[in-house]
Amino acid sequence: LAPPGRTARPRILALANQKGGVGKTTTAINLGTALAAIGEKVLILDLDPQGNASTGLGIEHKMRHVSTYHVLSGEQDLRRAVMDTAVPGLHVAPSTLDLLGLELEISQERNRAHRLRLAIEGLALGDHLRAEPFTYILIDCPPSLNLLTINALAAADAVLVPLQCEFFALEGLSQLIRTVDQVKHAINPRLEIHGVVLTMYDPRNNLSGQVVSDVREFMGSKVFETMIPRNVRVSEAPSHGKPVLLYDLKCAGSQAYLRLASEVIQRERGLKAA
Ligand code: ADP
Ligand code: MG
Repeated sequence: LAPPGRTARPRILALANQKGGVGKTTTAINLGTALAAIGEKVLILDLDPQGNASTGLGIEHKMRHVSTYHVLSGEQDLRRAVMDTAVPGLHVAPSTLDLLGLELEISQERNRAHRLRLAIEGLALGDHLRAEPFTYILIDCPPSLNLLTINALAAADAVLVPLQCEFFALEGLSQLIRTVDQVKHAINPRLEIHGVVLTMYDPRNNLSGQVVSDVREFMGSKVFETMIPRNVRVSEAPSHGKPVLLYDLKCAGSQAYLRLASEVIQRERGLKAA
């Protein structure tokens, strides 16, 4: 617990990779669930107009009265967008397709890259007075390095990069690293790459193994030990509106996300101690 008089700041992690289908949303949902299961209070911010994180957490479209669109356009406080999920301690600020138009709407605004950061700062202030504050905020980014992703990087402490264990895994990674560096130098000096999460790993596939060794050679200790296996239960869970940890706790995917959560927390302690 934070000492009295000091507001505990949530750790803000952006899940980013401009490639689609690499496991950003799946990792946001299931890392979030695993963190909540071990006692953290977690908010998932859905910043993808597709709203897959919201759907995967069981939030139907008609329930999304206040979304991240309203927050970023300045119409609503982030607190009003926060919804409960079936997982105690896990909350979501949902998105809708309205987000597609946001970039154009705010492209002339001077603070266009800082909208999310300011919204989160407002939330932390209010929380201090009211409910128990969030300890983790996970931002599910769209598959693009657009203004939404820049908002996420401007607000985040660190970036988690899901990489699918497939032939083109490393393609685009240098571009992402460059963008993170640019945001770090121009607007958010505390931004770091927290780590690379290898997803959809298939031990029976030689190519998967080759990709793992290439990525480990290129990114070194930034790569998490935990690899998320390709697992059919993981891909089934969203259609039930549930994190895989609720859908099938014992499956290999759930167990991997629990290990990832403890590795994330260990790294956080390392970062704090350094
Ligand atoms: P992104 O958010 O990067 O676009 P998703 O998390 O939506 O990627 O994942 C893309 C697809 O792959 C989804 O259909 C998801 O269910 C599936 N998927 C993700 N991780 C796994 C896994 N470990 N095993 C099997 N399927 C997975
Ligand atoms: Mg996604």
